[in-house]
Amino acid sequence: QVRVRFAPSPTGNLHVGGARTALYNYLYAQQKRQAAGGSAFVLRVEDTDKARSTKESEEAVLRDLKWLGLDWDEGPLRQSERGDLYRQRAQELLDGGLAYKCFCTDEEITAMKEKAAEEGKPPIYSGKWASASREEVDEMLAKGETYAVRFRVPQDELVTIQDAIRGEVTWNTNTLGDFIIMRSDGSPVYNFCVAVDDADMDITEVVRAEEHLPNTLRQVLIYNALGLKPPKFAHCSLILAPDRSKLSKRHGATSVGEFKEEGYLSEALMNYLALLGWNDGTEQEMFTKDELIEKFSLGRITKSAAVFDKQKLNWMNSQYIRQLDASDLERRLTDLWVEKGVLAGPDTEEARVIMAKTVEIFQEALVTLNQSVEEFETLLGFPLEATLADGKAKKCIEGGFYDVAKYIVDSYFVSGELKELVETEPESFKGFIKKVGKDLDKKGKNLFLPVRICMTGAMQGPDVGDQVYLVKKAESCINSGALVS
Ligand code: GLU
Repeated sequence: QVRVRFAPSPTGNLHVGGARTALYNYLYAQQKRQAAGGSAFVLRVEDTDKARSTKESEEAVLRDLKWLGLDWDEGPLRQSERGDLYRQRAQELLDGGLAYKCFCTDEEITAMKEKAAEEGKPPIYSGKWASASREEVDEMLAKGETYAVRFRVPQDELVTIQDAIRGEVTWNTNTLGDFIIMRSDGSPVYNFCVAVDDADMDITEVVRAEEHLPNTLRQVLIYNALGLKPPKFAHCSLILAPDRSKLSKRHGATSVGEFKEEGYLSEALMNYLALLGWNDGTEQEMFTKDELIEKFSLGRITKSAAVFDKQKLNWMNSQYIRQLDASDLERRLTDLWVEKGVLAGPDTEEARVIMAKTVEIFQEALVTLNQSVEEFETLLGFPLEATLADGKAKKCIEGGFYDVAKYIVDSYFVSGELKELVETEPESFKGFIKKVGKDLDKKGKNLFLPVRICMTGAMQGPDVGDQVYLVKKAESCINSGALVS
């Protein structure tokens, strides 16, 4: 049976890097599901760092995983609830002489490190208590002294792993001093928890970020000491910003929650994250979840760092929005508009007309769902009356379109002569333009562009008649209270 895990530390939001790790684990487990023995995707919350871990963060991470569609089979298991297991394993190592009690004070440790630094050596534990006699230890215990449990690192050994992404990685154990696995306050140390948990949960493949590669040596040593076979490892490369620095807040949204808030589709984000350091060996970029499950392989995860490209994500998101059924997009936009307080509720006929029209007009153009709100509000907020003063309208006037602009303003806004014609049906707008063209003897771009600018304030966009119709419908919805604006 294949058993993988995602092990977030609940100290913040679910970032794209963590989400990608979770996704790769998820895809791998799903793919192996059909195979003999099945599979399991375990969720483990690594909350040993009490000062930095919060319940809110855990909830947010779980919520964002679910939103992305990455459901787990077991868990969440919390390290904070597994103290007995870590104590028990530490005791086993103590009993077997594979770990020992260390009574060094902080001052002694500091002095030891300083001495090592002076001698140009790595700051590794000198092993003072490694060889202490039974009597020495008992004497300290009798005095009530507290101790840390140190792992006895075998010296002069080479530890090698076959990383599915990085290939063979070898460490010399001499680079490591005997390290603490249980602190003197009784709390377990991170690397110890990870190895004990991975062993206890029968994890077969550890797929995680490259930054954890250095931890692997300690973890493999703990496995060996417990008499267990270590899992296979796959360490995924970093995700960088386009300037090749570490991806961080200053590059914009980096967490799954932020992308959700900005109106990205979970399907698109999943597809994008899958390609951020993986490909199927072809040029294919659009993958459904089922295709990802079928095609994913650890061996095709790239070794070089992946660059987070927002443009690409935007392109992918717009593709996904285009591919949605109109009714599906309508439902999503309706939920969003209600959530954003634009729409009072989804249940009125008027609201449905508005939403259907919005989908019809904007589906092809939307990069994110939220853009629908922005487009709509811009449309509503465009002061048609002020059109001649508008910068773009000015351009249109300078371009020799003054007469068209003036005609529209006069006949539409001032005399109201054309108002009714425009407001009833998108189709009737064609009649309106025809009339303007005929009266002024204009056609083509000289006619359509100034009309567009006057009616919408923009040089380009969806069909002008559709937009005017939407605005008019919206105005009556605002009057009836269906739209909050
Ligand atoms: N808790 C670690 C993190 O959030 C993951 C450790 C692991 O996967 O082994 O980065």
